[in-house]
Amino acid sequence: MAGWLDLQTDERDQAVGACALAAVFTVCAILTKVINDVTGVPTIWLGNGLLVGGLLALRPRWGVVMLVLSMFGDVMVDLFTGRSLKAMIVYPGLDLIETLLAVWIARRFWASSLRLKNIRDVISILAFACIPAVAIVGALAGLANVLFFGREFLISYRVWFFADLLGVCMTLPATMVILDPRHNRAFQRSLGEHMAFYGGLAGVVFLAFLQPTSPLSFLIFPALILATFRLGPRGAAFGAAVVAAVALPMTLQGAAPALLNDRWALVDRLQVLHLFIVTVFITSLAAALELSKQASLRRLLVRRDRIARAARAKALAANEAKGQFLANMSHEIRTPLNSILGFTRLLSDRQDLPSDVQRQLRLIDQSGESLLTVVNDVLDFSRMEAGQIELDIRPTDMRRLVEDALAIVACDALAKGLDLRLEYDGPVGQAHLIDDRRARQVLLNLLNNAIKFTAAGSVTLRLKIAPLKPGIDDIRVEVADTGVGIAPAAQENLFRRFSQADSSVSRSYGGSGLGLAICKGLMELVGGRIGVTSTLGQGSTFWIEGRARTTAASARAAEPPAAFDLTGVRLLLVDDHPMNREVGAALLTAAGCVVDTAESGEEAVALAAGKPYAAILMDVHMPGMDGLAATRVIRGLDGPAAHIPIIAMSADALPQHVAKCLEAGMVDHVAKPIRREDLFAKVGRWTAAESKSRAA
Ligand code: ADP
Repeated sequence: MAGWLDLQTDERDQAVGACALAAVFTVCAILTKVINDVTGVPTIWLGNGLLVGGLLALRPRWGVVMLVLSMFGDVMVDLFTGRSLKAMIVYPGLDLIETLLAVWIARRFWASSLRLKNIRDVISILAFACIPAVAIVGALAGLANVLFFGREFLISYRVWFFADLLGVCMTLPATMVILDPRHNRAFQRSLGEHMAFYGGLAGVVFLAFLQPTSPLSFLIFPALILATFRLGPRGAAFGAAVVAAVALPMTLQGAAPALLNDRWALVDRLQVLHLFIVTVFITSLAAALELSKQASLRRLLVRRDRIARAARAKALAANEAKGQFLANMSHEIRTPLNSILGFTRLLSDRQDLPSDVQRQLRLIDQSGESLLTVVNDVLDFSRMEAGQIELDIRPTDMRRLVEDALAIVACDALAKGLDLRLEYDGPVGQAHLIDDRRARQVLLNLLNNAIKFTAAGSVTLRLKIAPLKPGIDDIRVEVADTGVGIAPAAQENLFRRFSQADSSVSRSYGGSGLGLAICKGLMELVGGRIGVTSTLGQGSTFWIEGRARTTAASARAAEPPAAFDLTGVRLLLVDDHPMNREVGAALLTAAGCVVDTAESGEEAVALAAGKPYAAILMDVHMPGMDGLAATRVIRGLDGPAAHIPIIAMSADALPQHVAKCLEAGMVDHVAKPIRREDLFAKVGRWTAAESKSRAA
């Protein structure tokens, strides 16, 4: 419907344009003939420029309508002014030829996209279409004058050429910019403003032409330019028409402003005046077209900016959805993993199982651990992409850190018969400010890869610490192996996500291809670098380097796992998932705890209110009252129940999830799949603290 209406409006505009042009054409014909008859002076001919402009700017159908109406008007004027039949046929015929010739040339060279966008377009259409057409038809007119009216060829030619050319220079560009709606978009002004500007301009021209002495004519130009700046290309066109409309009749009446020498003959004065009007018009039009171009560029920029913003918002939403999806997937994988790993470890503790079953249990445990690593890697990576990784900087002894990392992988190296070595070059006992957890993560990734991809030989870790300037050291770690090595082409992509040196790797060695991408991201986060040198078949050396501040504070020693005695500790374990309840209760019971279970938040609140638990282990996602709500209710209970330490036990392990738990009133967080040592340590710490504070 809207489209149909638009079309209707557009058609109406075309019809109005065609009729208006024909009307202006007829008025021009009247004025020209009147001036010619009254003064006997040949004047500028504005008609052909109007016709050419109309045919180029209007749709063909409306162009023809305009042409027919204009020709009709012309004949009518001729009839009323008593022209001879010969003149009534020859001159309109020549006008028609000139018009069609100019339009034909213009269409040939500019095809259908003919628009006046800048002054270059104006000059080219005038120079390449109008001047040739006027020159050719001027010659025909000269001939016709000789043949039919007995006039001199050269004089006729000169009069035709200048009258038509000056007229076309004015009316062709004016018509085209007035009919082009795009030139008007940035210059939508009220009718009052239009009238004020044109009125002011007419006043200036009137004053300038009223008296011959003071050189007020120079004010015409700035006045027209001012109108152009406010009203755009159409303002320039209408403004020039206003100048002509006031100046021409006054000049014909004998006015001779300072612009025109009063000793000149009328014909010369008129010619100079025409030149003046064409000059100020073309100059203001140049400025107006430039302004219009800038305005449309600005509009384009605003539109692009809007599109870019929308695209950004969409990308952010997609990213958020991706993050949410990953968090959900991680939660969904962690929950069954909790049962797999928990029951496997419970079974492994049994002494009565045959050795082949023990081996199979170990394999299940290793597979579960690998799956957990993949889930953790994917989460880490998405956190990194979202810029959510926060560093936890603290005094760390780098040497101790690498020794710990080596100790962790020592079993795997031993199992493969690899020689695991450490080479150290640096100060002794110096602490540095780094995020030890993240540094260990990077080192373990490199060491695990080195062991994974080395069948025989050695894996060597080289740590070099050298002072860069006072208070800052350069730290470089190399992990060199004698393994399979990496082909040069594959080395370039290694640090990209999901990249493995070749596709058979994941089949034979496993892995997600995210480890090195995460290492790179972490190293970049601390302003460091990571790289590799490798020879296929001989081994690889992965290196990381960065700078770290030294500190006088002593590095915190890795906390030795505290040996808590959990015998007789009364606990409430809350989880809606029966398998999680079973595995959690079994682990804790095996450690000597007395465990009650609840399967909902409501049940947990009821039990907590009635029994003196040493701690509550609380799942977070539960139907009905969830873990966070239950915690808030328990914290609001009367009596000692309000102070029971509540430890979250959840598969939601992102920092923001942990923060939410603490906010709700929990004291700690154990991530699922539960690690026995982690669970015991946290339960031990909180129940010991609680019993100490109670004793005090
Ligand atoms: P993945 O979890 O698959 O091991 P990484 O990002 O840690 O992912 O490693 C990506 C790939 O880089 C590996 O699959 C392997 O092709 C190659 N790679 C990494 N370390 C070594 C190494 N020490 N020797 C040979 N190839 C390696």
